[in-house]
Amino acid sequence: MPGTGGCMTLAPSRSSGLEGGCLCGRCRFTIYRIDEIVECHCLRCRRLSGGAPVTWVCMSRDGISWTRAPSIWLSSTIADRGFCPTCGCMLWMAYRFNSEVAVPLGSLDERGDLASERRIHAQEAE
Ligand SMILES: [Zn+2]
Ligand SMILES: [Zn+2]
Repeated sequence: MPGTGGCMTLAPSRSSGLEGGCLCGRCRFTIYRIDEIVECHCLRCRRLSGGAPVTWVCMSRDGISWTRAPSIWLSSTIADRGFCPTCGCMLWMAYRFNSEVAVPLGSLDERGDLASERRIHAQEAE
């Protein structure tokens, strides 16, 4: 997943950042830079989202800031997942072996023209 594609610097009109958060509003974030957008079909994403693949907006750790961060759960040996402790929204995925992190596309306040650029773990799709 890391190391491919160019860095997508947000358009000047969005230079203040893209905002998003969970359903209840407890956890809020601002994204300053997007590396890529992928649609993940892995088993964990499908289970955690309730069956559908998850579209992830990916960035490095310093490309996002939280006003109130989600609770972290170690979903596998390679990645952490984050959830709002109040409403349960999945808000976060972070690899343990590099600096790549991601938030679901659906958690953004305004999706704009952002869309998935490629599928990953598609072989796990049923
Ligand atoms: Zn919430
Ligand atoms: Zn996945």
